[in-house]
Amino acid sequence: MSDLRQLSLSDMRDGLRAKRFSAVELAEAHLDEIEKTHAHINAFITVTRDIALAQAKASDAKLAKGEGRGIEGVPVGVKDLFCTKDVLTTAASHILDGFKPQYESTVTQNIWNAGGVMLGKLNLDEFAMGSSNMTSYYGPVKSPWTKDGQPLVPGGSSGGSAAAVAAHLAPVALGTDTGGSIRQPASFCGIVGIKPTYGRCSRWGIVAFASSLDQAGPLTRNVRDAAIMLNVMCGHDVKDSTSAKLAVPDFEKALTGNVKGKKIGIPKEYRPDGMNPEILAMWDKGVKLLKEAGAEIVDISLPHTKYALATYYIVAPAECSSNLARYDGVRFGLRAPADSLTEMYEKTRAAGFGHEVKRRIMIGAYVLSAGYYDAYYKKAQQVRWLIANDFNEAFGKVDAILTPTAPSAAFGFDYKPSDPVEMYLNDVFTVPASLAGLPGISIPGGLNKEGLPLGLQLIGKAFDEETVLNVAHALENALQFKGRAA
Ligand code: GLN
Repeated sequence: MSDLRQLSLSDMRDGLRAKRFSAVELAEAHLDEIEKTHAHINAFITVTRDIALAQAKASDAKLAKGEGRGIEGVPVGVKDLFCTKDVLTTAASHILDGFKPQYESTVTQNIWNAGGVMLGKLNLDEFAMGSSNMTSYYGPVKSPWTKDGQPLVPGGSSGGSAAAVAAHLAPVALGTDTGGSIRQPASFCGIVGIKPTYGRCSRWGIVAFASSLDQAGPLTRNVRDAAIMLNVMCGHDVKDSTSAKLAVPDFEKALTGNVKGKKIGIPKEYRPDGMNPEILAMWDKGVKLLKEAGAEIVDISLPHTKYALATYYIVAPAECSSNLARYDGVRFGLRAPADSLTEMYEKTRAAGFGHEVKRRIMIGAYVLSAGYYDAYYKKAQQVRWLIANDFNEAFGKVDAILTPTAPSAAFGFDYKPSDPVEMYLNDVFTVPASLAGLPGISIPGGLNKEGLPLGLQLIGKAFDEETVLNVAHALENALQFKGRAA
């Protein structure tokens, strides 16, 4: 069946259980398409055909006995930031050359335990730092969406994940989100991406960027598929002290589609002067549809929003400079030849890291240095608390908050920001929820006049992914987004 790849994840799961097709057939359909499109899209850094077929065979054996559980037999792409045992893990960086972890990340292990089939490791911005997937050592990823025949970026940092799902190379891909890296690429590629609450998923075995912000989450083609994936990804893990000791609800059951009486906050600070009118119009449409579905719209204020981007770009580089200090060429990855240990460190790190990663390490080391710690890092931590407190107050009045996901649609490869801050502006609507550790989802909100997708973001209370998913599901039903790239 050539159209197997067009099915949603939930239809794949149900079709496998009903034995309408096999897990091997499903894996092969995806693997063949990945091979065919690889030279063009560049979504995968490593394709794990042998592992996929072996896992699919095992799934078929279980399904034949009626033992299929969770997502038994469903193909999954994995952002190459998750450590996968004995499988090359690069973080899209030269410095991790040849690194094959001796252990499996908790989230990926959860997925294999639930019957997922690994297609391979997906391209990303180097160490998940970026908004365009242009900082990867393995080259940029092309979105399956184009503008006037010209290629576009898929967003970042989970750009390979978003492009793979939009191009039907996988029904789901794992991403990570530190400041927007699941939600912004989902928005650029016309798909769904959810960052759960900080602590919902274990970070164990995920290459660390900024540990107080990093979270795993799925990118899928609809909200139900995201809920199904969260069911298998989330949960407490003794190996991650920041993972929450909370039971994981059945997120799929939360999708009632009923939002009557739900209070949806609209923050005035997300409407800056000069905002793209098409994004505003899409946002207004989302408001109108939720109102028609019976939700109550409440104007709210998150007064410290204007400091979020600056705060994020102090906290995230600070943590990155500390986390990336481990890459020294000694035990794994790249090692540059040198005559002394110090020279080896210097040469390895000079050759191994790209420009953006070096910039962040330098900013981070600076804001943590003795003379500047109080002025920058400590101040940023204080402001972070104020930003989180804005949300706490707002959530005394509302159940979820609706905003756009990104300030623009996807851009082309000719886009050359005059300075790095211009690229950082992509994250303006996503970083506040990250700093507050809150769950956020991006769903396709519509197409702009050039036919490119724009995303709507819903932010929820801590550990209330159920409301976020349910409101997103209701909005998805009302919007009937039909745009697709492939
Ligand atoms: N674009 C943001 C950054 O470059 C977010 C990255 C992320 O969420 N991993 O830091």
